[in-house]
Amino acid sequence: MYALHEILKIRAEQTPDTEALVGGHIRYSFRTYLERVNQLSHYLLELGLEKGDRVAILCKNNHPYPTIMMAALQIGAIVVPLNHQYTSHELKGITKNCQPKVLFYDKEFEAVLPDKQLLPFFILAGEGMETSTAFDEIFMGRYPVTEPPVTVSESDTAFFMFTSGTTGNPKACELIHRVFSESFKEVFSYPTSNSNERFLAVHHLYHLSSVFNMIYSIISGTTIVFLTESDPAKIWDMIEKEKITRMFAFPYMYTYMLQEFKNSRRKTASLKIASVGGTKVPSMLIMQYHELGITMSAGYGCTEGLGISYYSPEMGIEKAESVGMPMPNVECKIVHPEKGEELPVGEIGEIVVKSPYVFKGYWNNLEATNKVLREGWLHTGDSGKLDEDGFLYVLGRYKDVIISGGRNIYPDQLEDVIMQIPHVLETAVVAVPDEILGEIPRAYIVKEAGSMLSEDEAHQYCKQRFASYKVPQIRFTDALPKNSLGKVMKQILREQAL
Ligand code: ATP
Repeated sequence: MYALHEILKIRAEQTPDTEALVGGHIRYSFRTYLERVNQLSHYLLELGLEKGDRVAILCKNNHPYPTIMMAALQIGAIVVPLNHQYTSHELKGITKNCQPKVLFYDKEFEAVLPDKQLLPFFILAGEGMETSTAFDEIFMGRYPVTEPPVTVSESDTAFFMFTSGTTGNPKACELIHRVFSESFKEVFSYPTSNSNERFLAVHHLYHLSSVFNMIYSIISGTTIVFLTESDPAKIWDMIEKEKITRMFAFPYMYTYMLQEFKNSRRKTASLKIASVGGTKVPSMLIMQYHELGITMSAGYGCTEGLGISYYSPEMGIEKAESVGMPMPNVECKIVHPEKGEELPVGEIGEIVVKSPYVFKGYWNNLEATNKVLREGWLHTGDSGKLDEDGFLYVLGRYKDVIISGGRNIYPDQLEDVIMQIPHVLETAVVAVPDEILGEIPRAYIVKEAGSMLSEDEAHQYCKQRFASYKVPQIRFTDALPKNSLGKVMKQILREQAL
């Protein structure tokens, strides 16, 4: 297996002239990408960075990001991707915990930077779609374009990746080089491959799925095109302009893209693979994209365990409610959430996994690590079941399960059906208190602007499809509360209902 920077070296030898990074006016080939990574690595070494030091990145989607990431990995440093929407207080906490030596940042985040004395080096890396002069100077010839003499192994730590903080404070997951290179073993066995693919990096780069896609793009020789704006019309324009074949986004983004596609009567695009994940993917969405000739490939995973399973329509459209089959090398079982014993096929319990992709632990937090990592099994905190064909179904986080009169209601199951009501754009089902039953389900729904759908019609739709104890109260709302990644913060909805 390879350490991650080696894959760029291999790629640059094989397809040096293929476009690697496209952002604003910049178009770098794999040769130039590697040269810039080497130059930046020398610069970091000159700053005094050593193996195991942390390099934090607070930048938007553009070419400096993968350059900084690969340069840091090449010298054995640990990359700490930072969420743009952290407040200055949160960044201070993270800085104290991870103690980066260097922080690369975009000008627009200057206001939230932690105190200058908390870490030695702050480097302005990019400003919107243009790089800053200071950052550009690193590539003006002072540093060699050849590889620096540092040995990094596949078992060295590569990233501190933060969870999204959907259920509490984000936690730093320690991931080693091998978890990524191992995931792409299949692609490695075709080292001369050049996919001719063009990937649109519009999803935030600090999220694990984006890091995964940046690495996959190097391995497969895919061009990455960066886009900072997430407006659906701009996304389709960019897909058209750059002949994009693949992208990743969260489900709600694809919902709004679909709306834009239909409203502006766009023609079938170059886009072939719409990768999706991070949260429940409505089966309806998969089918709607299928009808457009776009394959929605839905992944299920978590920061602690990387990829766990994935679904694609060729596995059978009737399985679209599942999250597909566990990936090769992933052992997956369903266990009783309290007793821990394995449950038979079809029964609902906690999803636990064992795989080479599982993280080392939460940085500086052994207690939290021991809670989720037990005897080599990662306890995901998700409820789910396996069917007789080996397909995995995620029914939501255990914390979100609604217990109504002693009966369990799984919000994800209700949400999947509610999304099939015409003119529904988004929904989230949460528990609200009930004097008799303890809890009952309530569905918050965002409908299309101008739609005549009424709360009563949505309620009737549910009554025809769910057992009576599962039928949710319906509340229309203009927007669902989301975290910076776009995951619905159900805790906020629950609190609103009190
Ligand atoms: P935190 O752990 O800080 O609360 P988080 O759980 O959102 O945040 P992530 O690691 O970013 O942290 O997200 C992983 C979780 O996202 C999974 O455990 C699961 O609950 C949900 N998830 C991811 N992909 C899917 C999917 N395809 N279908 C359903 N749920 C998904």
